[in-house]
Amino acid sequence: MKMERLVLASNNSGKLRELSAMLAPLGIEVVTQSSLGVAEAEEPHITFVENALAKARHASAETGLPALADDSGLCVAALGGRPGVLSARYAGEPKSDLANNARLIADLHGIEDRRAHFYSVIVLVRSADDPQPLIADGEWHGEIVEAPRGEGGFGYDPHFFVPSLEQTAAELAPELKNTLSHRAAAMRHLLARLQALVAG
Ligand code: IMP
Repeated sequence: MKMERLVLASNNSGKLRELSAMLAPLGIEVVTQSSLGVAEAEEPHITFVENALAKARHASAETGLPALADDSGLCVAALGGRPGVLSARYAGEPKSDLANNARLIADLHGIEDRRAHFYSVIVLVRSADDPQPLIADGEWHGEIVEAPRGEGGFGYDPHFFVPSLEQTAAELAPELKNTLSHRAAAMRHLLARLQALVAG
């Protein structure tokens, strides 16, 4: 399969940098949808994969290029998987990490089971009507702690404790987080799938 240029259905410069570095060795250039004048798509679905697919399909339809989109969030076992797809806006508008974390801790008040995982899914469509999107995902397991710890990362990181490291995600060096995280796992899976596709 030949693929020289991909549109990324995100305007996050960190994601662009990571994906560009990963895909450059395969001869694939990544451009953001905003650089091509594409507005952000709606994310109305109840699963991560449907939201990622909607974003990728929208970007591909608008540009005629293959498109890549991701979606991620925190799933807490005792909350039936919430905040899940609502992670970014768990405490409502305007979106605020501080308010989201406060709501999470309030929801878990008095609950002993603190198990949680981050989830990330990346979807690639070769065209807007691609019947076989490439889907890669990853998980990162930990526990939610009451007191926030650490200054790094973003989102729920200060409350996401990784028992094997005895640190929260916000206490980890960024390079370490970037090898352990749900997004890193999803990206590794994506790369393996793409390598096979490009070679085939
Ligand atoms: P998005 O997929 O980039 O829109 O992220 C959705 C939301 O999930 C973010 O706003 C965060 O609240 C949460 N989230 C996703 N990944 C992480 C992470 O690595 N650390 C902390 N929070 C995250």
